[in-house]
Amino acid sequence: MTDAVLTLNAGSSSLKLALYPAQGAVPLATGLADRIGPEGTLKLKGPDGAPIAVAPDDLTTHTGAMQAAIKSLRAIYPDLAVLSVGHRVVHGGNAFSAPVTVNNEVLIHLADLSAFAPLHQPHNLSGIRAATEAFPGVPQVACFDTAFHRNHPWVNDVFALPRAFYDEGVRRYGFHGLSYDYIAGALGHIAPHLAKGRVVVAHLGNGASMCALQDGRSIASTMGFSALEGLPMGTRCGQLDPGVLLYLMDQKGMTPSQISDLLYKQSGLLGLSGLSNDMRTLEAAGTVEAGQAIDYFVARCQREVGAMAASVGGIDALVFTGGIGENSRLIRARICERLGWMGIEVDPTRNAENAQVISSDQARTTVMVVPTNEELVIARAARAAVGLAEQEAA
Ligand code: AMP
Repeated sequence: MTDAVLTLNAGSSSLKLALYPAQGAVPLATGLADRIGPEGTLKLKGPDGAPIAVAPDDLTTHTGAMQAAIKSLRAIYPDLAVLSVGHRVVHGGNAFSAPVTVNNEVLIHLADLSAFAPLHQPHNLSGIRAATEAFPGVPQVACFDTAFHRNHPWVNDVFALPRAFYDEGVRRYGFHGLSYDYIAGALGHIAPHLAKGRVVVAHLGNGASMCALQDGRSIASTMGFSALEGLPMGTRCGQLDPGVLLYLMDQKGMTPSQISDLLYKQSGLLGLSGLSNDMRTLEAAGTVEAGQAIDYFVARCQREVGAMAASVGGIDALVFTGGIGENSRLIRARICERLGWMGIEVDPTRNAENAQVISSDQARTTVMVVPTNEELVIARAARAAVGLAEQEAA
């Protein structure tokens, strides 16, 4: 029997999946169903990254895509037993500070939270419903992007609005929690002395945020009520004066859905460059606007490293992760070049090699590059839900 747990990340028309063995950090398979609908595609890869053949199948729904993936995986692992399914769920609200096995009551509660994350939560929940249909009786475990931040001090959890708004849930939830959870755990293995200290983690990808950790726990995050706050991102604006929203509504007559589209899909690096949301494209472009988009991204990152460090009274380590943080030597170098006052100094050779430690030997603050692994965090929760103890190091 090949005992395994499945991890799922369901978007509006996509389904990212990974199949993990009962132990270990290397998935048996990973996959992406994209453009779910009449034009749907499904790609699967084995542990070595080699493509797994996919039989033509119904990819018009999330359930169909999942069943198609499992059918193809069973061709390779004929005795596959999926023991539990872990789901990435963007919002756990105030109630959930840890993964939870889903039942009807939990599902209703999570559906109520869709009002707080209308672009993501309903799709995450469709993923749970589809997996319940595909794997009847198998535990479905919801893992939240917000959970890791739930124990923020009050001052980092609140907006200065009348208190009734806080009480009804208008709070700074913070996101990318699965990534920060992974990094906090990995640091405990890689650099235990630093893990106990004050660490700023910069998750820089198409979505981008930072988190201040103290002794491995989240104290502050740049993201807030929604995943729009903080750093500029691929297509999201990041920090914005709320007066701009009033102007857009009052003077430009924009509707909530037009504003949502503007802030989530047309802003950030794409909006500023007028070219692309993709950092690699911008680095290669050489236009004034692409350069300015990068300048703004870098400047906001520098500012937020300072803000995050202030929230924990200093900094012992800065950790880069996410697609940009793990791969872009240019962005890392540029963010760090004006942070010398915080004891940050990057060694150019180590930075060019994407080494684990990229700070110079004499630097007061350690700068690291640690690839994140959100799927593994979900897989561990899915294993824990069926009593599989972890034996691996991070
Ligand atoms: P993620 O959302 O974490 O997958 O990150 C996606 C972002 O990482 C995109 O903006 C990519 O352009 C960026 N990225 C990936 N590799 C590189 C690289 N070698 N140099 C610069 N940016 C990169």
